[in-house]
Amino acid sequence: MSWRLKNWQRDRILKHELLPPDLWQKVLTQLKFLHGLSPNELTLLQQNVILFLHNKQISGAHDLLITEEMRVVIAVQACILILELDMDYYDNWVEIIVYPGKFIIDYDYADEIGIVHHARQIVSGESWLAGPVILSWQDAAGFNVESGYNVVIHEFAHKLDMLHEGANGCPILHANMSAQAWHDIFSKAYTNFCKQVDLGEVTIIDPYAAESPAEFFAVLSEVFFTLPLVIKQHFPSVYEQLALFYRQDTAKRWSNL
Ligand SMILES: [Zn+2]
Repeated sequence: MSWRLKNWQRDRILKHELLPPDLWQKVLTQLKFLHGLSPNELTLLQQNVILFLHNKQISGAHDLLITEEMRVVIAVQACILILELDMDYYDNWVEIIVYPGKFIIDYDYADEIGIVHHARQIVSGESWLAGPVILSWQDAAGFNVESGYNVVIHEFAHKLDMLHEGANGCPILHANMSAQAWHDIFSKAYTNFCKQVDLGEVTIIDPYAAESPAEFFAVLSEVFFTLPLVIKQHFPSVYEQLALFYRQDTAKRWSNL
């Protein structure tokens, strides 16, 4: 699509589709990690939420009724990741499926000697390559600021990661970034983190991050937005890379509160 047509469509959507101001304020108040955003950033975020809700279809599973407030709560958390990127990052898929609570996934996997096993897992979210994002509403609404846990940011970080050679912990980097630096910094931090988890040490972020480089990136993204000072203090080089990728200095925003 041409740049002109894209802008025309964008302006048309923003002119005709509005977010009720009281609902917008209510959702912003609930999400403490958005409190340090500047007025310009909030305007941009609001526009992104309107475009996101226009482009995406959010439906409930197991008879869950999706309200306008639920749509905005999900959209605003998804859009904080792309605040300084572009809506194009969420292209090529439309569906978000919301379960009332955690849900079960069944999958097959092959072990080291090639035997295929069937597994069942209870999860709070899932992202499919070029497919839907699936969320547990209980988890999406129960963002826990103290722990840095945020399932919506986690699953949408996977979506960004998947744009580049599948989910491997390395999204598409910008021209001012070095792929070598990203690889070296994340590999070192991930290896150290896995050692800590293997030794049974208490970790500053969710030990689930040791599952794979993709999970490490997704968990660090959750904390980068919700408890950025933790990442800046304990993973300073990773913080710098995330700030370059997301084009946001979340720790600075947080310290303005
Ligand atoms: Zn994950």
